[in-house]
Amino acid sequence: MRKAIFAFFALTFFAAGWLHAQERALGPWKQHDMSRPRPPVVDPGWPSTQDQAGKPPSDAVVLFDGKDLSAWRAEDGGPAKWKVENGYMEVVPRSGSIRSLRAFGDCQLHIEWASPVPPTGSGQGRGNSGVFLMMRYEVQILDSYDNDTYPDGQAAAVYGQYPPLVNASRRPGEWQTYDIIFHRPRFAENGELLKPATITLFHNGVLVQDNVALSGPTEWMIRGRYTPHRDKLPILLQDHGNPVRFRNIWVRELPDPSLPENGLHPEIYLGEKELDRYVGEYQPGRLLILREGDQLFAQLAERVRFPIFAESETRFFAKSVDVQFEFDLDSKGQVRGVQVRHSGHQTELGKAR
Ligand code: MG
Repeated sequence: MRKAIFAFFALTFFAAGWLHAQERALGPWKQHDMSRPRPPVVDPGWPSTQDQAGKPPSDAVVLFDGKDLSAWRAEDGGPAKWKVENGYMEVVPRSGSIRSLRAFGDCQLHIEWASPVPPTGSGQGRGNSGVFLMMRYEVQILDSYDNDTYPDGQAAAVYGQYPPLVNASRRPGEWQTYDIIFHRPRFAENGELLKPATITLFHNGVLVQDNVALSGPTEWMIRGRYTPHRDKLPILLQDHGNPVRFRNIWVRELPDPSLPENGLHPEIYLGEKELDRYVGEYQPGRLLILREGDQLFAQLAERVRFPIFAESETRFFAKSVDVQFEFDLDSKGQVRGVQVRHSGHQTELGKAR
């Protein structure tokens, strides 16, 4: 009897907690509340046909509209070396993978691709490429039309982890779509994994990955283990030696309440080599710009040091405090100085030689 009473109270307590959590998720509004903010209006554009690429939604970041590779870089930050013609880009085998200049965390990604015609090779050697979210988590691209391979490596697999629910592949040469909903992994400050990355994927409009939780980053022949990384990183397209084509690539950043400004502040990704030119001492006042891996830090005093993030190739911002940095370059691309903006004040500093 006592056990039953205890179970009843435990259940009531749990249900009350759950209801409370639900209410919190719904926010402070009443049901059917006219004072609730209206969702932004978005022109949804239109979908592609085999003959013509569609139009992205009006709030999307367009990464490729058929014209040029200006939104892309080689992995090391140099120019992307893939070919662009007739409204598509094509992998130039062994020229290297390419990555977006813009960095993304939680996002909706639309990408279209076509396998080479005529198909050559077999298994993993036929029409292989891949979309790597955050340069780490691969949704496989492969010609899986009448081409057998290990299921966790076929088209629309989360490579090495989850086969797609069905094989919705079109014939080689035909345009195929991936619509991906990605949520980045969450890490505690001590680097511990709080929440794994998740992927939902529609292949040619068919649901093939239903909110799967990734076991770690993509690896071949071994299980990748999570290691902490930045909140936003580029999307990478893989050069696996096959001339796969791409068109109509766009991303919608999803609000992320765990980040300042809901994580919607645009951010680009600069590699270690590109960041190095900013490293040094700035005067007067002794501002130090330091680099650790792919992260730049501003140090204003012995104990005042915070990470800064690029929003363009010369403008950086902090997420933990309201400070912006605008670097001034000479005609050779050498850093001359920096303008620091903080709480309405502007200070000009010169870079010490
Ligand atoms: Mg691949």
